[in-house]
Amino acid sequence: MDCEICGESIKGEATTIEIDGTILNVCSKCSKYGKKIYTKKDATSKRPLGQKTTFKTTKNVIEIKEEVVSDYNEIIRREREARGWDQKDLAKKINEKESIIKKIERRDIGLDDTVREKLEKLFKIRLTEPIKDVHTYKGDNVKKDLTLGDVVNIKRK
Ligand SMILES: [Zn+2]
Repeated sequence: MDCEICGESIKGEATTIEIDGTILNVCSKCSKYGKKIYTKKDATSKRPLGQKTTFKTTKNVIEIKEEVVSDYNEIIRREREARGWDQKDLAKKINEKESIIKKIERRDIGLDDTVREKLEKLFKIRLTEPIKDVHTYKGDNVKKDLTLGDVVNIKRK
C-alpha cells in the first residue's frame, strides 16, 4: 500500500496516525506528522497490510445432505387424494399397514426410508431435498503475510 501522505509505497508495516481527527496509514517517515494510534478491533478491514500477525483461521465446509422434506405428510396426502385413494388403498399399494399411512399423514411417526422410497416410486415424486450444512472448523494459528483477501476472509479471534 502507499503512504497516504507522501504517496510512497510502504515497505513492511504501515503506521496508522491521526491528524486532526483524520486516520491515515503512512510510512515511517511521515508518522511523525501525527499522533500514532493503534488499530481498533472493529477496523479489521483497515488493518495495515503486509504485517505479520497471528490469526486463527476458520474454514467453512459445506456439506450437502439429503433430508426428508418438512411437509412430507401434506405431499403424501395430496398425491393420494389426487388419485382418489383413501389411506387403506395407499397402504395396499405399498404393502404397508393402513395405520402406518395414518401415522405418517398425521406426522405421528417420521418417514421411514423404506416407506419413503416406495412412496417416491409410486407417486414419481421426491420426498427429500438437499440441505446445505455449514460446518465451521477452527484451524491452527498461522503466521503469514496478509494479503487483502486474507484480511477480508479471516475473522479475528
Ligand atoms: Zn510517507
